[in-house]
This record gives sequence, C-alpha cells and structure tokens, in this order.
Amino acid sequence: MEDCIFCKIVNKDIPSNIIYEDDKIMAFEDVNKMAPVHILVIPKDHIPSINAIDEGNKDIIAHISVNISKLAQKLGIYDTGYRVVINCGKDGGQTVEHLHYHILGKRALTWPPG
Ligand code: 5GP
Ligand code: ZN
Repeated sequence: MEDCIFCKIVNKDIPSNIIYEDDKIMAFEDVNKMAPVHILVIPKDHIPSINAIDEGNKDIIAHISVNISKLAQKLGIYDTGYRVVINCGKDGGQTVEHLHYHILGKRALTWPPG
C-alpha cells in the first residue's frame, strides 16, 4: 500500500525504533507514547483493520498473540502487567488504517477508557 505509513515503516522508508521483527510482523515504538512503554505490533502485510481478519488470514493473529508475551518479557512488563489495545474504525479511535496492536505498560492504566 503506497500511502500507508505503517507499510512505509515495514519497508524502512520511514525510520522507527524497531523492537522486534520477523518475516511476518514488526514491533516498534509509538512515536507519541501514552505510557513509558508504548509499542505497536503490526503484520507486515497490509491489513486495514481487525475487520479484515477472516479465515484466510487468521493465522497472523495467532502469530502476533504468541509474540506479545515474549515482547512483554523483553520490555520488562511481563510481571507488572500491561494493556493490549486494538482500535477499529472511527468510534474505536483508529487513525492509521493498517492493523496494529498497542502494547502499553510501566504505569498504572485507568479503566474504563474515556
Ligand atoms: P490508532 O489511533 O490508529 O490506534 O494508533 C495509531 C498510532 O500510530 C498512534 O498512537 C500514533 O502515535 C502512531 N503513529 C502514527 N504515525 C506514526 C509514525 O510515523 N511512527 C510511529 N512510530 N508511530 C506512529
Ligand atoms: Zn499498510
């Protein structure tokens, strides 16, 4: 996707602080941190949102899931806890239309969200 900012990050056309990368996913620091630890985990393939997950591409969700706790260990938030957020669409507050998981930690987060 030519105009997608996260595809540009995957292609290294835009720099980012990469925390983890393999052939299917990338994890990098959010440019506007909402917590001392705030990273984004994305599929390398352009998937617009969680709405676009179906039987054909669902394996990427399992792959991201197994990597979340590994990332939490690497980031030092495995024991203290953290929040995983997927925003979807307008009401969900999604601003970048490439599926991404926010992982937030190293501070107590309020609930419910505003
Ligand atoms: P959303 O609101 O779509 O759930 O989250 C998009 C996130 O992407 C925001 O937290 C925003 O700070 C982050 N973001 C937007 N542009 C860039 C960028 O160019 N680099 C990085 N590292 N993060 C970005
Ligand atoms: Zn994209």
